[in-house]
Amino acid sequence: MSEKFDVVIIGAGAAGLICAAEAGKRGRKVLVLDHAKKPGRKILISGGGRCNFTNYDVSANNYLCRNPHFVKSALSQYTNWDFIAMVSKYGIEFEERDHGQLFCVDSAKQIVNMLLEECQQAKVQLRYQQDVQQIEQSEQGFTLMANANAIECQSLVIATGGLSMPKLGATPFGYKVAEQFGLPIIPTSAGLVPFTLHKQEKEDFEALSGIAIPAEITAQDGTVFKEALLFTHRGLSGPAVLQISSFWKAGQKVTINLIPEADVDELLTIAREQHPNQSLKNTLARVLPKRLVEVMVERKELVDKPLKQFNDKQLKQITEYLENWTIAPNGTEGYRTAEVTLGGVDTDHLSSKTMQCKNINGLFFIGEVMDVTGWLGGYNFQWCWSSGFVAGQHA
Ligand SMILES: Cc1cc2nc3c(=O)[nH]c(=O)nc-3n(C[C@H](O)[C@H](O)[C@H](O)COP(=O)(O)OP(=O)(O)OC[C@H]3O[C@@H](n4cnc5c(N)ncnc54)[C@H](O)[C@@H]3O)c2cc1C
Repeated sequence: MSEKFDVVIIGAGAAGLICAAEAGKRGRKVLVLDHAKKPGRKILISGGGRCNFTNYDVSANNYLCRNPHFVKSALSQYTNWDFIAMVSKYGIEFEERDHGQLFCVDSAKQIVNMLLEECQQAKVQLRYQQDVQQIEQSEQGFTLMANANAIECQSLVIATGGLSMPKLGATPFGYKVAEQFGLPIIPTSAGLVPFTLHKQEKEDFEALSGIAIPAEITAQDGTVFKEALLFTHRGLSGPAVLQISSFWKAGQKVTINLIPEADVDELLTIAREQHPNQSLKNTLARVLPKRLVEVMVERKELVDKPLKQFNDKQLKQITEYLENWTIAPNGTEGYRTAEVTLGGVDTDHLSSKTMQCKNINGLFFIGEVMDVTGWLGGYNFQWCWSSGFVAGQHA
């Protein structure tokens, strides 16, 4: 005998939980299955344990998707303000950080507890440590096996996320289900991820590990982010690098303005007038970490001598170099540390209004498993809330 549900959701992460609560509120009998021991593990570790749950400023421009218009409907049906209203209703204190990012003041756990409370009120059943197998289409909808128990449902929602952080339970399950039902997958890769450097550069910059500077970073496709850049013992990280990594392709270079806040040419020209005997190194150390300037001199990218020995053209060349410091990353740290997965289930085969497959009634994909990737800044969770909400109205 199989158990019967109206809706089965696979994945008790951000997208799965909000979808479950919404479907349950409509009176649907909902079951959530997850192979992990507990729900929302990525929410718990996100934002350094404080969960950057959304952003004050959300639009389709903050997302990468092969169809750039796809996200618009869901983002307008369930907005950042809708989620902020729920967070406020639960009395969860939050704060705004740079670029409109909203974080819990206390703990990301409050977001998980809020979603679980919503599920409980909507009488959603949650089961953990479930091994889900054998999904098949049936006359009523779908049948599947979970820990060797047969389950039937009218609607099946896949909310199993992407490949990033396998240690937290990420699997390619969602892509396999998509393939089984004939939906194409846009090739996946790690996004919002630190860069690794080639051997020589890694050795040269290793000593700078832990140093952060404000920077403006540009990808080969022209995308620009102005954020902090961090040197690490493996390469480059920090928000600037995480953001641009989603726009970078193997073999490409990135260009970095190392002093975006100052007019470097003016600074050097005035310094040469006022302190002609001051070394270039000591002059630049006023606007850059001294150790970074030293490494550039050691790498013979800059020549250190008194400012009076540089002519105008040479000062301009130094400015040009510092404003367009170019580096070709060796690669990225990959799924092990990536915050998200680029690519995923092709949105051309899904309804942008409901997240339901266009050709398979009752099958839905929501959250990160889809070919929708947000920028750093709360946009990925907002996509989970928006896509999960709309699916919850129709599943
Ligand atoms: C370190 C880190 C920090 C982040 N910080 C932020 C942030 O502050 N703000 C932001 O917007 N985004 C952040 N992100 C991205 C965000 O966490 C994800 O985009 C989001 O969690 C995706 O939600 P999801 O529900 O689609 O998938 P997930 O949260 O990955 O949930 C998928 C669920 O499916 C389950 N599952 C997987 N495979 C199976 C299977 N075979 N059988 C059964 N269950 C399965 C998993 O156990 C999991 O519970 C961060 C990511 C990481 C890794």
